[in-house]
Amino acid sequence: MKRRWSLRGQLSLVLGGLSLAILALVGGYLGRVATQELYAAQQTAVRGVAQSAAELLATQLRDREREIELLSVAPHLVSGPLDALQVREALDRRAALHDEYAWLGVADADGTVLQSTAGMLVGRSVAQREWFIAGRERIYVGDVHEAKLLAKLLPAAPQGEPTRFIDFAAPVRDAQGRLRGVVGAHAHWRWVTGLVEGSVRRLDPASGIEALIIDREGRVLYPESLKAAQAQGQPVLPPDLGRGRFEGGMRFGDGQEYLTSEAPLLARTNAELGWRIVARQPMALAQRPVRALQRELVLLGLAVAGVLTLAALLLARRVSRPVEELARIAQQVEAEHRMPTFPPLPATRELAHLSQAMQSMTQSLLTTERALQQVNTGLEAQVQERTAELRAANAALEHLATRDPLTGLHNRRSLDTRLQEAQALDRRYGRQNGRVHGLLLIDADHFKQVNDVHGHPTGDAVLRQLAQLLQTHIRVSDLPARFGGEEFAVLLPELPGPLDAMRAAEKIRQAVQAATFPQVGALTVSIGVSLASPDEADPRALVDRADAALYEAKRAGRNAVVYRAPTEG
Ligand code: GH3
Ligand code: MG
Ligand code: MG
Repeated sequence: MKRRWSLRGQLSLVLGGLSLAILALVGGYLGRVATQELYAAQQTAVRGVAQSAAELLATQLRDREREIELLSVAPHLVSGPLDALQVREALDRRAALHDEYAWLGVADADGTVLQSTAGMLVGRSVAQREWFIAGRERIYVGDVHEAKLLAKLLPAAPQGEPTRFIDFAAPVRDAQGRLRGVVGAHAHWRWVTGLVEGSVRRLDPASGIEALIIDREGRVLYPESLKAAQAQGQPVLPPDLGRGRFEGGMRFGDGQEYLTSEAPLLARTNAELGWRIVARQPMALAQRPVRALQRELVLLGLAVAGVLTLAALLLARRVSRPVEELARIAQQVEAEHRMPTFPPLPATRELAHLSQAMQSMTQSLLTTERALQQVNTGLEAQVQERTAELRAANAALEHLATRDPLTGLHNRRSLDTRLQEAQALDRRYGRQNGRVHGLLLIDADHFKQVNDVHGHPTGDAVLRQLAQLLQTHIRVSDLPARFGGEEFAVLLPELPGPLDAMRAAEKIRQAVQAATFPQVGALTVSIGVSLASPDEADPRALVDRADAALYEAKRAGRNAVVYRAPTEG
């Protein structure tokens, strides 16, 4: 047989599968949207770092640049001796105001330092220094470099790293615009890096976001570790960094992928410097919240699918259990043929309907079956009754047909039938065993007188008594019959010889003679006796012989027995 799925299994599978599919779709969609959002947010954070650091740095550099510009047009410098004490005081004031300055000084047009903060390098020549050369012409902001002359004069940096500066310079001109000298400033590189560090420090350190300063040639200026690695010839930056604003995932020299954002320093100063701030965050960290969200979504989806499948299973069971129960009940009805106990109606309307329909169907089927059984039993009893009646009627008919109504003995017709049967038996067996049947014809003597003297009813009573006597003085196997009127006959089967017949006749004659008949008194009978012959086909010969013998007995004086042998005809 084809294997069929259970309703429960199908429902659970379909509902569970559907819920899983929907969850996968919705979860997948939500997950993608959320992932994109999260990723975008992360990117915004990285971009924010790059931009804010770039803006801060640009602003600060521009401020310092403007400061030098302002200083270069200060009245003490435009007119009056550049080595005047006021000049030094003005420089010192600036330096005290901004501790990022390591050195502020003024050199004459030939490059000899005339005045400076703390008097450092006064009298020394800076004619070969880039800032001085450029500062003669224009306002200058120079790239980072290691301290040369000042290195020995300044206190060492806390981490022992080399002292680095960025330089600012501006020409000092007199009222007629002639060059008088150059005012220059060395700002600590650590001030610059401090600014960038500051904008990263606001972030959660666990985010792993860091900011890099990169110059026009793609050299790393900050942080120190990358700068050092680059100095040793290691590839530090991705080759395609710095080709305009970039944003997205990028593989750096360390082989790791970073979420990267690049921002140029938008300031006039930067035209000269060409610096860029690159903010980066390891991709693994950038995607951590995304991964966490995805994991949560998967777990949530699985949990919801599990719950839905369970619900589907329960629902399916609610539907299938009553159906199974009804099937079981139907089998029970088939086996036991009695009203089963139906379970309480199921909560589903259709199933409740089915259960009720089955209940009433079972009820009416069983009622009909019982009624049929009753009718059947009644019919059987009736048939039995009728059969018995019929049998009784048949027996009565048989009795009527074979018996004489007055005496109850066999009638003449019955005797004829028995004589024929006996004749047939003799013809078959008689010659072998030598036995034949015999016949007694018995006639009441002077019976007419009984009637005449005592009346017909008394005659009837005498005939009945005679029949009684006959029955009590013959063998069970002998057949007594009323031959007609006051004549009787007895069929004696299987007689060895005539003597036995004579003895039977004599016994009867004597019994009658000895009997007393009420009102009548004594009575006698005459008996004619004969035996059948196996050669005879017709029983009438036997009857005739017996009749002839009877006649002879009458003639001989009555109350006698006469035998006539077959040979006598
Ligand atoms: P016998 O000795 O020569 O036989 O003389 P019998 O008078 O007996 O002979 P008979 O044949 O002349 O008379 C027979 C009588 O039997 C005549 C009849 O009235 C009487 N009988 C015959 N059948 C019945 C019967 O059924 N009931 C009564 N009560 N009498 C009967
Ligand atoms: Mg007679
Ligand atoms: Mg007679």
